[in-house]
Amino acid sequence: MQFRDLKKQYEVLKPQMDAAIARVLATAQYIHGPQVEELEARLAAYVGRKHCISCGDGTSALQLSLMAWGIGPGDAVFVPDFTFFSTGEVASAIGATPVFYDVLPDTFNADARSLEQAILAVQREGKLRPAAVAAVDLFGLSADYDAILAVAEKYGLPVLEDAAQGFGGVYHGRRCCSFGNTSITSFYPSKPVGCYGDGGAVFTDDDDQAALLRSLSVHGKGSFKYDNVRIGMNSRLDSIQAAVLLVKMDAFEASELRDVNTVAGWYNEALSDLPLDLPVVPEGCLSSWAQYTVKLPEGRDRNTLQAAMKELGIPTMVFYPKPMHVQKAFGPESTVIPCPETEKLCERVLSLPLHPYMEREQVEAVAAALRRCL
Ligand SMILES: *Cc1c(COP(=O)(O)O)cnc(C)c1O
Repeated sequence: MQFRDLKKQYEVLKPQMDAAIARVLATAQYIHGPQVEELEARLAAYVGRKHCISCGDGTSALQLSLMAWGIGPGDAVFVPDFTFFSTGEVASAIGATPVFYDVLPDTFNADARSLEQAILAVQREGKLRPAAVAAVDLFGLSADYDAILAVAEKYGLPVLEDAAQGFGGVYHGRRCCSFGNTSITSFYPSKPVGCYGDGGAVFTDDDDQAALLRSLSVHGKGSFKYDNVRIGMNSRLDSIQAAVLLVKMDAFEASELRDVNTVAGWYNEALSDLPLDLPVVPEGCLSSWAQYTVKLPEGRDRNTLQAAMKELGIPTMVFYPKPMHVQKAFGPESTVIPCPETEKLCERVLSLPLHPYMEREQVEAVAAALRRCL
């Protein structure tokens, strides 16, 4: 069994996909081909944002977003403790300091109360200037933006939505990538919508920010390519990836987002009698199921369980085994408050195989294996 069956997806999409890639090859417009602009317009319309700036990957999308706000040394960027490394890495990469706050135990997403405690702690210490808030739509589920935006507004901080895993998710009638001042996503192959390599995008409604992001992503260009008015980076989505993503978007909108929710529903039923905490999708939310993540009983040896599952042919993954605040790459100034919920989650989470082309029998097989191994 595949954890996320990208081969199967390609088999299904092969005719359209091969034709789309062949069109790029025939024109030899590998960079800035017409597919890039078409994709940007399509993505912006889909998530409900005015601007989409495509770029090389989700990590540079995050970094470009912080750069466009002029964030740098002395600035604190508040980051959930339970996320992929990138969300904090980009703050450090531009000389700022990520400051970690805790998440909620049921949704795995940003805890607005912990965020406020972290902001207050940074203010009290007086060494860093609170500069921005990052929130993550983990595993396909949007964070609680009503609560997060209220805290951010109270302290006058811009919000960066890291929807690398959240693309396609819905929160109170709005799609992920539409929350906060700037949002980003990733098209890494295994994300809800993935390309055949690396890719990413930044979204904003602000015209000036959009222009600045565009400049920063092309070596800080000014009025033309060889006029450079600021230090930027080289981060672009190539035409082949854009062509791939246009085909993927067709499938995502036509069936994949629906099907992945069907698979999650099968899991919820098949696992209901096991001693596991199943994923929670709050009222008014739709997940795009980047991961289906359960919590094992407290104290249960996860390594042994994973090995036993592997013996039965079932791949499982742990996202994430370590809280951000214990990562050696970050200094002690990144930890101003405790994050006990993240610490507990890192011990207990287990992600199961899930993708839109999964069949009910496969879900039953995972459940049967789990039942045996537990
Ligand atoms: C994957 C991911 C990223 C980084 O995206 P890349 O395209 O791999 O650079 C950032 N944040 C989160 C939460 C992610 O899951």
